[in-house]
Amino acid sequence: MTAPIATSQTILVVGGGIAGMTAALEAAECGKQVILVEKNPALGGRTAQLYRYFPKMCHPTCGLEINLRRIKGNPNVRVMTMAEVTAVSGTRGDYAVSLRIAPRYVNENCTGCGDCGKAVTAEIPNPFNYGMDTIKAAYLPHTMAYPQRYVIDPSIVGTPEGEKAKAACKVGAVDLDMQPREVQLKVGSVVWATGWRPYDAAKIQPYGYDRFDNVITSVEFERLADPHGPTGGKILRPSDGKEAKNVAFIQCAGSRDENHLRHCSRICCMASLKQTQYVHEAFGDDASSTVYYIDIRAIDRFEDFYKMVQADKTVRFVKSKVARIALNEQNGNPVLHGVDTEGYHRYATEHDLVVLAVGMEPEVKGVALPDDIILDSSSFIEGSKDGGMFGAGSAASPLDVNRAAQSATAASLKAIQVIHKTAAAEKSSKEVA
Ligand SMILES: Cc1cc2nc3c(=O)[nH]c(=O)nc-3n(C[C@H](O)[C@H](O)[C@H](O)COP(=O)(O)OP(=O)(O)OC[C@H]3O[C@@H](n4cnc5c(N)ncnc54)[C@H](O)[C@@H]3O)c2cc1C
Repeated sequence: MTAPIATSQTILVVGGGIAGMTAALEAAECGKQVILVEKNPALGGRTAQLYRYFPKMCHPTCGLEINLRRIKGNPNVRVMTMAEVTAVSGTRGDYAVSLRIAPRYVNENCTGCGDCGKAVTAEIPNPFNYGMDTIKAAYLPHTMAYPQRYVIDPSIVGTPEGEKAKAACKVGAVDLDMQPREVQLKVGSVVWATGWRPYDAAKIQPYGYDRFDNVITSVEFERLADPHGPTGGKILRPSDGKEAKNVAFIQCAGSRDENHLRHCSRICCMASLKQTQYVHEAFGDDASSTVYYIDIRAIDRFEDFYKMVQADKTVRFVKSKVARIALNEQNGNPVLHGVDTEGYHRYATEHDLVVLAVGMEPEVKGVALPDDIILDSSSFIEGSKDGGMFGAGSAASPLDVNRAAQSATAASLKAIQVIHKTAAAEKSSKEVA
């Protein structure tokens, strides 16, 4: 299908995380037309998958809720979910963009009642919880998903399970005949807010992420602590469901390392400091967190948060790059081996659970982007040679939520400038003609 639904005055924002939502809103609230495309079924990005935010320790629902309300109330933003950019051609002020929209198999009649989910028995790994549990194959992506519309997983389309979902829907929202669609757009500027993904922990062989059940990643730990997570918010270790009171946090897992990610992701230290507080909150004085670190990077106002955690009696700091993890086969405990660089003594320390603070790498790493896009040495997006496309948020650099929003505001302003220049050029060429 070809649908010219935008013009050279339109800004395209790719990625509906906190950065993409911010970029879209800043431009829309200046009166610009914006199309916000998100490849997942709902907006929010990885911020929605956090349990709490540092430094205030509030729930991500706060920030997301405000942005969602602004988006819902602004007719200048058109949101397209399950949509990915497949090609961009043209130049600043005049881009032709191709989008591919995957079928949701549920149309806009959906009221979010959940009858389809109740009717099916088939389950799939839950993407929201990083596959740590399963959900029904007819599902709402998460409780505050926008749009509040169910998704039917393609694995049950064409099966009796799909038919059960369709039969259960009283408002005719389940449409199993939906097909992938191609959409063509004309836009004047593009903001790439495609975000980040956690570094693949299985590549860090000495830490045994793919061999030991009780070695998990920091993003998985966010879900473990969350009441909407796989354990209902109880910090239980995967191997035997035992309470994980004694937790090790390993910093720079695969970061600042020539063999993995060369860059520092800046937020991992803060994420681990925050997560020690999840353990404290869960187990009180019985909690024991140990942070193994090279150096703690808690910049600017985060220093106060670091000092607060340093004063916490349940948290211990060991200045050391952990060399390897072994397994105590009797009790399933991971055993950390290394050298404490303050005193230079060797350790072999057991913990109930190990959390690897994995770095952020660009979601678009390895993905074909327009030739004009300029990437830095870690594949973060700097912009485009013609000055019409911009990186925003953690697509541009590993950033916390606040800085991702600031970066998105800056990118949005640049995109608005492109639109203004294009409009002025079009006006003057008409006047000359
Ligand atoms: C363990 C951990 C804990 C953290 N805790 C905190 C915290 O407490 N406080 C804090 O401030 N920060 C925290 N962060 C950082 C925070 O997650 C990021 O700042 C935030 O996610 C950045 O938002 P973003 O919109 O740039 O990217 P993302 O959240 O990654 O959003 C990008 C969006 O773009 C979409 N997308 C990607 N590619 C495409 C494509 N080709 N087409 C269409 N859509 C696409 C994605 O699906 C996603 O929805 C934490 C990070 C980690 C690793």
